[in-house]
This record gives sequence, structure tokens and C-alpha cells, in this order.
Amino acid sequence: MSRRGRGARRLHPTILREYDIRGIVGDTLADDDAYAIARAFATMVGERGGAKICIGYDGRLSSPGFEAACAAGVTDCGIEAVRIGLGPTPMLYYAVNVTGAGGGLMVSGSHNPPEYNGFKMMIGTAPFYGADIKRLGEIAAAGAYRSGKAMSVKRPVFDDYVARLVADFEPGRPLKVAWDAGNGVAGPAMARLTASLPGEHILLNETVDGTFPAHHPDPTVPETLRQLQETVTREGCEIGIAFDGDGDRIGLVDGKGRILWGDQFMVLLAEDVLARNKGATIIADVKASQSLFDRIAAMGGKPLMWRTGHSLIKAKMAETGAPLAGEMSGHVFFADRYYGYDDALYAAVRLLNVLGRSDKTLAQHRDALPRLVNTPELRFACAEDRKFAVIDEVKARLAGGTARVNDTDGVRVATADGWWLLRASNTQDVLVARCEAKDDAALGRLKATLSRELRRSGIDPPAF
Ligand SMILES: [Zn+2]
Repeated sequence: MSRRGRGARRLHPTILREYDIRGIVGDTLADDDAYAIARAFATMVGERGGAKICIGYDGRLSSPGFEAACAAGVTDCGIEAVRIGLGPTPMLYYAVNVTGAGGGLMVSGSHNPPEYNGFKMMIGTAPFYGADIKRLGEIAAAGAYRSGKAMSVKRPVFDDYVARLVADFEPGRPLKVAWDAGNGVAGPAMARLTASLPGEHILLNETVDGTFPAHHPDPTVPETLRQLQETVTREGCEIGIAFDGDGDRIGLVDGKGRILWGDQFMVLLAEDVLARNKGATIIADVKASQSLFDRIAAMGGKPLMWRTGHSLIKAKMAETGAPLAGEMSGHVFFADRYYGYDDALYAAVRLLNVLGRSDKTLAQHRDALPRLVNTPELRFACAEDRKFAVIDEVKARLAGGTARVNDTDGVRVATADGWWLLRASNTQDVLVARCEAKDDAALGRLKATLSRELRRSGIDPPAF
């Protein structure tokens, strides 16, 4: 890195996002940016009295270089850089929680294509997002950094992290499980974890490879689960488990090769957590099925619908003391016996515990869920300067009508047919929608209502 790169630096405006920083390597994101981001971040950690920052990195080709630049940015603030090594994002969260560091900085492009990379941050054990990220950009642009000298130490936590995962495993009925890390950075932890568990484990794509040769590591996209589905059915596994590129999101397949979405497997996890925490609050995001909220209430829990976004969910968990939260996107957060962050490997352990003590297979559990018809997550392009206005317009038109409108995040509209959701993405220029109903005719009516509202605000919805 050049000395010149160590002063004020105007970050590309597209990389500063709501929950993290993400850009295209060599285009909107360079080593000098990594240094500036880390130094501005460390400046803010220092303001709050932090003396150490843990730094981790994923398996992307550009990640080791960015990690070194980050360590330099941190130590130049007089803050110790604790370099925990290659591992999933939740391993960084773990390191910050157990070391009491003042912050954490993860170099990761998550599930994005190979040319991307980025940064997720935490201040203390809390998520660092929104206004914090804006301010980080301002500090970098002004070069208003702290200065000092501090040590950079390599302190791998991989062994401790996997041991912590294994510690909460409860042996039960032996299970045959297929696992797919998609060549993301969860692979080595997945391999070490499964080597410590009883049962039979078939591993796919466990080698870290930043070119992602097998498939894209994003379990919310059904095509990426095809190899896992084929393996599960061919090998007669009871369950297939997939991780996203940095191990903070999980995807699931049952023994019949069917995908279970976040709001489906959350029913199993909620049941487990409520048995241990009577009457507890369980959080799910606004995209989740009504049947999940109803089921939580029926089991004596307090269902809480909250805004989509892993940082927002973590903040709400800390505020409410909820022992469990989950998002449709596969982020699952355990504060019950764990630290309250999204760790897909830990969620896998807890799911195996539930199945191991159940006399039903995952497919049988899935078949016992209410049969509702719903759309997947629908995404419509919408200009940045219009997306929030559209939501306000829809809200205004619905006011005074018969439908019940929940405006926690966009509008979630309940009618006699079911519900539909329209919200603005915080990270992309898109509107996100979903509908769920008791039957196909009712779903058709909900879709027609949603389409009409979109058209009234000048959005031409593609067929869905
Ligand atoms: Zn991720």
C-alpha cells in the first residue's frame, strides 16, 4: 500500500450500504479503501474506549490483502489488531464476544460473486450499521483519524470456535446428513464440526475456493441447492444443510429433497427454545408466514414481527431479550445458550439436536406444517428516489379501508384471504413483495390487489 493511501480517502458512494460495506474489487474497492475503512472504524471504536479490534477474513482471493490493510489501519489508530484468521463471519462475532474486544471487522463479500468483497463490523458486541456506516465514510473523507501505535497479533480462534459449537450438541438418534458449504469460508469449520459429531456426514464443496466453482454460495436461491437436493435423495439422508459464502445464513433440504424456508424450520427451533424459555419473545421478519407467528403464540410464546435486516434483528433481540430470532433469508440468531448473533453452523447444531430427539423425520415435520399457498420473495425494480415514496402512497390509499395494515417495515396487509407485503429494500433499488393465502383463488386475489397498488404508483409489475 502506498503512503499516499494513508490520508483522507473518499470512498466510492455505492459501497457504503445500510448494514455493511460492499464493492467490486479493483473498481470501487481497493487496498487503500480497506485501510481507510478500518482506520475510520477504529477511530470510532477508540472514541468509545475500545483498545482492541478483532479482524477476520473469508476465502475470497482479495481477502488476505484487505485483511493486512485493515490491520494496518487499526494499529495506526493506536488500537491493537487481533487477527483471528480465515473463518466464517460468526467466528468473528464469537471472537469479539469471548475476548471483550471493542469491535470486530470482518472482510467478506458474503454470498456475492467472486469479484466482490466487503466488510461487516460490530462495535462492542452490537451491530454497526446505518448512521454508523455513514459517519465512517465522513471520517475517511476528512482523514479525521486517530493516530497512535499498537501491536498487530495473530491469534487464531478456529479451534475454540468449533469446540464451542460442538459443546452444545446433544447426542440423540443417529442422523445421516449432507452438508454443502458452496466453497465458502464455512467449509473448514463444517468439516471439523462434523468430524466431532456422531452419525453419518456427507460433505460437499468444503474446500475454500474464492472462485466458487460448484455453484454460487447463496441458499436463498433454489438453483444453488440442487446439488444438495440430489445428494440427499441419492444417499438417503434425512437432512441437507447449506451455508452461504460467509456462514451466517443457512439453507435446509428435507429427506425428500424439498427446501425448507426460514419461516418453516423456525417452527422447530421456536418449539425447542420455548420449551426451555416459557413465554419468551421470538422474533421473525416481516416476510415470514403468518403460520409461524400463530404457532409461536399457540406454544405460549410472544411472536414479534420485526424489520428485515440482520443488524436490525440483532438490535431488537438485545432490546427485547428474545432468545431466538430468524429471517426468511436464513439468518438465525440464538441468544438461548449462545450469544445472540446469526451463526448458521450453530443453528445447524441446534437443528440436529431437535431432530435427534424427535421420533419424526424432518420431512414428517414439514408435512405437519399448515398448508398455505404463498409466493416466494418477489422483487421489482424501483428507482432509489421512489421506493420509499411508493410505500407511503400505498399506505395512504389503504388508510381507512377494511384491511389491517402493519407498517413495521413497508406495509403488511392482512385481509380475509391472507396477507400481502410490500417493502422497500434497504440495500438495493428494489421493492420486495410477498403474498400468502389459504388457497390458490385467495392468493390470486391478493396478487391482483398488490399489482393494482403497484400500478397506481406507476410501477409496472412483471408477471408473478
Ligand atoms: Zn452471509
